[in-house]
Amino acid sequence: MNLQTRLGILGGGQLGKMLALSAGNWHLPVWILDEAGDFPAAPYATTFVKGDFRNYDDVYRFGQMVDVITVEIEHVNTAALAQLEKEGKIVHPSPAQLDMIKDKGLQKQFYAEKGLPSAPFKLYSDEKSVQEALANDAISFPFVQKSRTAGYDGRGVAVIQSAADLPKLLPGACVVEPLVDIAKELSVIVARNENGEIQAFPVVEMDFNPNANLVEWLLCPAQTAPAIEKQAEQLARQTIESFGLCGLLAVELFLTKSGELLINEVAPRPHNSGHHTIESCYTSQFEQHIRAVLNLPLGSTKMKTASVMLNLLGEPGYAGPAYYDGLEACLAMEGVNIHIYGKAQTKPYRKMGHVTVLGATLADAREKAHRVKERLRVLAVGG
Ligand code: ADP
Repeated sequence: MNLQTRLGILGGGQLGKMLALSAGNWHLPVWILDEAGDFPAAPYATTFVKGDFRNYDDVYRFGQMVDVITVEIEHVNTAALAQLEKEGKIVHPSPAQLDMIKDKGLQKQFYAEKGLPSAPFKLYSDEKSVQEALANDAISFPFVQKSRTAGYDGRGVAVIQSAADLPKLLPGACVVEPLVDIAKELSVIVARNENGEIQAFPVVEMDFNPNANLVEWLLCPAQTAPAIEKQAEQLARQTIESFGLCGLLAVELFLTKSGELLINEVAPRPHNSGHHTIESCYTSQFEQHIRAVLNLPLGSTKMKTASVMLNLLGEPGYAGPAYYDGLEACLAMEGVNIHIYGKAQTKPYRKMGHVTVLGATLADAREKAHRVKERLRVLAVGG
């Protein structure tokens, strides 16, 4: 095994940081491209390169410095990646896969073409054409409108229950889906390497904070019937195979009240719903991504202990230099693993870190996670 392979990561946020920390176990040289040296990943990169991952020249120049290129975010300059790929660089996920995944319209068309289950949908060029479709009865309330390209962490999603919600319609090209009757939101992170080997992590269950539309709790294992678990894992495998993608693919699923599994969306990179794997599985999602993009044997995804992951979000009402209130009390609790991303400034609902709470049982982990949630808060110094 060549431990000199230079791994390049576009993006220096918390996912880049955790990838770099994982690569450190094998002492792999890691190069990271992002705009500022005080971003979370910068201190953990062997070489931090300052630049914009949306800019062609910055990405192209960066790509020439490394052997294998991957991403921690989809919204990168794929034209530069395509050129690098043409010149023989290994790029996982591929620029074509990134282009498809970062456009929710193309993603939905892909599922339809491949026969992968997902909610029915229609595409519109702007909010005016959505209004016209309503007037023509082509769509009806309640529905969900999603920006094709601008979305992130629920910001590009509008739930339209009735005419009263129409002012919430988002501008620009969009996908419209019926409002799904969701029983649970599940996620399966799956990995594939160039050899075609595939491994899926145990199914997790996501609970959302209704105010921020961000995952608040993540339960592993998911509280679902074994048959659903098996079906979810199978669907994730089928999805990554259909994409022919190398690296990680986080497959977000809806379990409907009638027991159907639908793909909501995918992310071709480490994902918030896999952070618990660092402590609760044999292999972390970050190491698995590195194994997959370097075409190494994939690691075991077996669960060691039940866990509950909670995102540490900036407390509403506080903005400024971050202060972690209750950190020491939580560090003293058994099985509580605290990850601080190192973002200097907090603001309401900003992802500042996460905590993975391990337990002998899920109930045990849950009870402790509630205590952590009550005790640990991200405030602002002097604010
Ligand atoms: P993002 O890419 O911003 O995370 P998603 O497409 O995942 O956006 O949507 C965010 C959330 O909105 C989902 O996790 C789910 O709770 C809700 N949602 C999305 N689509 C639907 C739908 N068709 N029916 C009901 N709820 C939905």
